[in-house]
Amino acid sequence: MFSQDTNHYLRRRDKEQELLTQAEPIRKTGYISSNTKTGHSLNFPILNCTPTKICASSCYACLGPTSWKASLLKALAIENTLQSNMGYALTETVGEIKKLSLTELRYSGGGDLSDHGVNYIIELAALCPDVIFWGFTRKIRVAEKLASSGKSNIKVIYSLDAKTSLAAILKIKELGIKTSWLYNDQANIIPKDIHIVFVNHVHGSPDPSLKEVNNECPAIRKHQVTCFNCKKCFNF
Ligand code: SF4
Repeated sequence: MFSQDTNHYLRRRDKEQELLTQAEPIRKTGYISSNTKTGHSLNFPILNCTPTKICASSCYACLGPTSWKASLLKALAIENTLQSNMGYALTETVGEIKKLSLTELRYSGGGDLSDHGVNYIIELAALCPDVIFWGFTRKIRVAEKLASSGKSNIKVIYSLDAKTSLAAILKIKELGIKTSWLYNDQANIIPKDIHIVFVNHVHGSPDPSLKEVNNECPAIRKHQVTCFNCKKCFNF
């Protein structure tokens, strides 16, 4: 069977729990991370996540460099700062956005947003109106608050898979929020109105048993594609 198992997710979750007391209470500098596909991102702890079993068993943030201790401590320190000194986190992050001349920034490059994280993104969007803040969540509350923030430079997509509850699917449809699908099995019945489909992959290699479907993220099968030149997840 092509897939990680939930052990990677559980290992990272337990490690974050263990590192909670070691993380800086205030992140001094270095809020933004980067990688070759997504570009720049803000990463948060997976302790904020509410994954389905499929999501937990396919978590890209639970393998490789983003699962290493330094990355976990960074995500935890950022979360600590959002809780204790939001103003400081905003000043530092805006300074980094300006220094890097960013035009878009992914939130939840790893992990998901807490309530503090939602307020942080909304404040950042107000302070940097020319920057697009884009990302994914599996929390209805987060999606709803970001979508109703009144900030046109915030783009939110709610992540679905074959284990997402029908109640969540109906609620997100009612809210009119765009959705993505984690495609992990040829038997998946992918809803027709899905905005973007992510083929299950590990270390950049897609599951070879999964045939190409409509609306796939092109970067998973074609490694030369980046979010910066695709823009499908934030150009709406
Ligand atoms: S669809 Fe495009 S913008 Fe979205 S994750 Fe894939 S490469 Fe990035």
